[in-house]
Amino acid sequence: MGIPTSIKFEDHVKSNQITSVPLLDVGRGNDPLKQEFMDAFAGILETGRFIGGPHCQQLEQSVAEICDAQFGMGCASGSDALLLALMAIGIEPGDEVICPSFTFFATASAIDRLGGVPVFADIEPGTFNIDPAHVESLVTDKTKAIIPVHLFGQCADMDAIMEIASRHNLRVIEDCAQSIGATWNDQPCGAIGDIGCFSFYPTKNLGGFGDGGMLSTNDAELADRVRLLANHGMRPRYYHSEVGINSRLDSIQAAMLGVKIRHLDSISRGRQQNAANYDRLFAESGLSHAVSTPVCDDRSGHVWNQYTVRIEGSLTRDEVRQQLADKNIGSEIYYPVPLHQQECFEKLGYQTGDLPETEKAAACVLSLPIFPELNLAEQGYVVKSLLSILLEREPVIRRAA
Ligand SMILES: *Cc1c(COP(=O)(O)O)cnc(C)c1O
Repeated sequence: MGIPTSIKFEDHVKSNQITSVPLLDVGRGNDPLKQEFMDAFAGILETGRFIGGPHCQQLEQSVAEICDAQFGMGCASGSDALLLALMAIGIEPGDEVICPSFTFFATASAIDRLGGVPVFADIEPGTFNIDPAHVESLVTDKTKAIIPVHLFGQCADMDAIMEIASRHNLRVIEDCAQSIGATWNDQPCGAIGDIGCFSFYPTKNLGGFGDGGMLSTNDAELADRVRLLANHGMRPRYYHSEVGINSRLDSIQAAMLGVKIRHLDSISRGRQQNAANYDRLFAESGLSHAVSTPVCDDRSGHVWNQYTVRIEGSLTRDEVRQQLADKNIGSEIYYPVPLHQQECFEKLGYQTGDLPETEKAAACVLSLPIFPELNLAEQGYVVKSLLSILLEREPVIRRAA
């Protein structure tokens, strides 16, 4: 069918020449930095330090600065960061920890692994972030902590979360895996609560060349405990006061990330620009019946790890996603199955319908390409393609547009 032409923005964007758009193209970000990576790698060879060492310390300091935190503690992954944070605050079997169900698995698996009980809160439909009113209603005398996830690059409502936590004397662990550099009331995430947990998985905003993670805190005692626990609870060498884990950040990862972190501001700005472009393209497309664009809280500085829309027309999200794939457009579903409905958490006894906003979101969300180097022509192609897919089914929109 013919490509609809209701996008005025199109005059500027040459989207006719585009025939495919990947969900993520890490090469476009990394290629221009190739020489810097090579130099950093050469530096690692020279030091002969492959675990810890100056590159790790430098990265810990850089991340701490970004978070306005006193301490940064490297570890092997974002998943380990969450586990170490919960170990450091002393989560024990039977302790309850409140977290969202609409998040990546690691947020809750870390709780379960320590014998703790994940207590799932619903989300606010606009931001997809944890709903503080629901959190409040879930607090019991077994509750020890809350893990707000700053999903898709936007901070959860930290005013409300911190207020609930202080009233009930709970610890707050921020899951910042998707949100490095994001702010809440102009304060960076990561040290608003007790500990922040970061991931350098390649699809994150600060993506490495493999696994890596980091914790941040202003609490010297917690920082020290995390360091101890990440190194087998060993201090001094070969003396173990408690059972920790082995979770280290490789020097090579730290050196590569050290190159990229110097460009983090421009990475975030690229994503923000692309989000603004999509907002405008969608606003001009007449698709508002069938595609709801992301909602941004005024108090938050969003870093757009994902641009996640809701597909709400008569085509299902999965049909739309398939037809985008047919047009060579990458998209992803974060997340198709909420954690309270995962087989491994059946033991927790949740029923379908328990977290209605979470379940609704899981059925209709679709994340579109938003990586920093994506260009306007490609975004135009994504939006036009969505328009043509949806117009086939939704003549009402054609009249409205
Ligand atoms: C990616 C992610 C994690 C886990 O990070 P890894 O480095 O992959 O272990 C945890 N929480 C959220 C919300 C994530 O997106």
